[in-house]
Amino acid sequence: MDNKRRELLKMMGIGTASAAVGVLPAAVGLGNAQAATVVKKVVVIGGGFGGSTVAKYLKLWGQGKIAVTHVDMNTTYTSPILSNLILNGQKTLPNLTFSLATAAARNGNRFISGKAVIDRDNRKVLVTKADGSIVKLAYDKVVLSPGVDFNYLPSMSFANGTLSDKILPIPHAWKSGNQVINLKNQIDKMPAKTGTFVLCIPKKPYRCPPGPYERACVVADIIKRVKGGGKLIVFDANTANPLTPTDKYSAIQAETHTFTTAFTGQFAGIVEYVSNAELLEVGSVGGQFGSKFASVKLGDGSIRNVSAQVLNVLPEHKAGDIAFAAGLIPLGSRFVPVDLQSYASTADPNVHVIGDAHSSSQPKAGHVANSEAKVCADAIVREFGILPPRFADEVPVTNSACYSPITHQTASWLTAGYRYNPATATMDRVVESFNEAETPSADTFSV
Ligand SMILES: Cc1cc2nc3c(=O)[nH]c(=O)nc-3n(C[C@H](O)[C@H](O)[C@H](O)COP(=O)(O)OP(=O)(O)OC[C@H]3O[C@@H](n4cnc5c(N)ncnc54)[C@H](O)[C@@H]3O)c2cc1C
Repeated sequence: MDNKRRELLKMMGIGTASAAVGVLPAAVGLGNAQAATVVKKVVVIGGGFGGSTVAKYLKLWGQGKIAVTHVDMNTTYTSPILSNLILNGQKTLPNLTFSLATAAARNGNRFISGKAVIDRDNRKVLVTKADGSIVKLAYDKVVLSPGVDFNYLPSMSFANGTLSDKILPIPHAWKSGNQVINLKNQIDKMPAKTGTFVLCIPKKPYRCPPGPYERACVVADIIKRVKGGGKLIVFDANTANPLTPTDKYSAIQAETHTFTTAFTGQFAGIVEYVSNAELLEVGSVGGQFGSKFASVKLGDGSIRNVSAQVLNVLPEHKAGDIAFAAGLIPLGSRFVPVDLQSYASTADPNVHVIGDAHSSSQPKAGHVANSEAKVCADAIVREFGILPPRFADEVPVTNSACYSPITHQTASWLTAGYRYNPATATMDRVVESFNEAETPSADTFSV
């Protein structure tokens, strides 16, 4: 039977890719091998791209032997993917908002809405619900996909939760939701022809490598098309590629060709791109719609101060707070180290961490979080004995895809694949899989 399974994999041309393998054994009749006799309890925390996928596949591949409880602090999930199109009015928040209870019911899982913490000593997840009551969930495994939180500059401390997302003067708008509406309102109020928008990009790693440049393009398109002119200054904390140190555009973290072409071509005269720009301080005079300022240290050591009607700062990223509270992150690190064959935390094999919160060379992106979720679900199902262990030569593969609107009518794309390297215990990029659109097109936009 093992040979039959191996032959089937070869015929399908997927080699030893365990992300895909996870679904196959049941299909070739191995589902009853080493069947587990007890129902295992898994608590999935996070209803985003990672959490929702792993909850679905644990149920699907668990063959009735896994009880999945899915927890999120909200009752709905609002996607950051496509949220830049809210800024130009082509999407709305309801377009990107999904009911987590509906998804859980469809998957046959239980859903609880509330803020979770993990008590690793007693193997329990404690969920504080909106009414203040606490639900205690015992677990065999936790899968955590809490996304990111931020390290704010001291001058942005007001942004750290003391003001409502709806009235923040300097929103990041990087988790979707009300901050994106806030940012849109500020753009709408920018004056015609003379307005200035400043976008500050943090050092990598951050969520969605092309995302900030995509935002720059969408805003530049609004400035050009709707406002009839104005300025967008992009301060990028990342530095030029050491192989091309004089080419500032080589600091662009993804789809370098696409965004360089857009900034220097159709948006020339609107976009000023500054690499190696370390943000020192920000401020706001006159509340949400007043004027803003930013102070930036440039590569030559000089300081540049700018004022703007709209200031959009993406702060330094770190794993969601729950991962720090659970003691999963070593001192001095910002993301959770994991075994990339199962996404088990190196601090606790019963807590798996996927998506933006874990540490690896894979991009922090929803598509790759979906892939990681399948690798993780596959590993857990096998560890529970519901499916047989992986063959020794089967290694996880994942893939990533990004969709980048450039204008209100054109978009670009990026793909990358990753394969586990047993020698280094890393996910290495598969060279042939790395590609970006030759040119943004209306065809890609409409997909
Ligand atoms: C503008 C923009 C464009 C993007 N475009 C793309 C794209 O084209 N392609 C792509 O692949 N990716 C894209 N991304 C990136 C993508 O959105 C993220 O990488 C993805 O959302 C990460 O998924 P996640 O599951 O790790 O976290 P999230 O999706 O952030 O989900 C985390 C969930 O955990 C919950 N949570 C956190 N802490 C707790 C707690 N203590 N208790 C209960 N619940 C908790 C949160 O409420 C949230 O629902 C984009 C991002 C942005 C900002």
